Amino acid sequence: MHRSPVREYFHNIWRTVYTILVGMRISLKYCFAKTVTLQYPDQAPALQPRYRGFHSFEIEKCIACDQCAKACPIDCIYIEKTGPRKLDKVTGIAKGGLMTRYAIDYAKCMFCGLCTDPCPTDCIHMGNLHDLSGYTRESMVVEFTDLAKEGLQTPQPIWMQKDKLPEWAAKKKQDWVDFAFSNDKLSNDNARRREEMVKAVDPEA
Ligand code: SF4
Ligand code: SF4
Repeated sequence: MHRSPVREYFHNIWRTVYTILVGMRISLKYCFAKTVTLQYPDQAPALQPRYRGFHSFEIEKCIACDQCAKACPIDCIYIEKTGPRKLDKVTGIAKGGLMTRYAIDYAKCMFCGLCTDPCPTDCIHMGNLHDLSGYTRESMVVEFTDLAKEGLQTPQPIWMQKDKLPEWAAKKKQDWVDFAFSNDKLSNDNARRREEMVKAVDPEA
C-alpha cells in the first residue's frame, strides 16, 4: 500500500511503539507468574521416566563384543579386553577374558542411547544421573572398569560423595549402591554382584 512520506513516518513510530508494547505485555505476564526456580541440589530435579543420563553399566554381564562401540555415531566408547567373554546362561555372568577398559568420553557423548539397543546381554543402560562435571577434558572420560572395582555401575558427582545429602540425593545414591538398575539373577545378592564386578576387571580377584 502506498503511503505518503508523512504517513509512513508516523506509521513507523506506531509500529515501533506497538511491538514494544507486545513485548512488554509478555514480560509483565511472566513478572507476576508463579516462579519455577528449582533450588537444586536441595530440591530434586524433575526428570522424566525415560530420561537419558550418564550410563549405568553392568560389567559382570558384558561380553566385550563391541556392538555398543560400533553403534555409537561418534565413537566415544572405548573397550579393551584380554580375550573373548561368554555369557553363562545359568548364572547370567560373563566369563573368559578380562575387561581391561570400558570407558565413555562424555565430552563427546550426545546421550542418544544408540549404544544400548544392540547390546546382546542388556548390560549398558542410559542412567538417571544428569549432573557430572570436570575441570579438564580428560576428566570427562568415565572409566567404568575403575568404577566396577569400587562396586559402582555409574559415576557419582563430587558433591554426592559427601555424607550429608538432601533426602532425594541420598535415596538416588542408595539406589546406585543397591544396583537398582539391575533386574536379573543376581538381584537379591548384591555382595555376589560386587564380587563378580571385580572379577571381570581384576586378574587377582
Ligand atoms: S549415548 Fe550415543 S553418543 Fe553416547 S555413547 Fe551411546 S551411542 Fe555414543
Ligand atoms: S554391546 Fe553390551 S556386551 Fe557388547 S561390549 Fe557393549 S556393553 Fe558389552
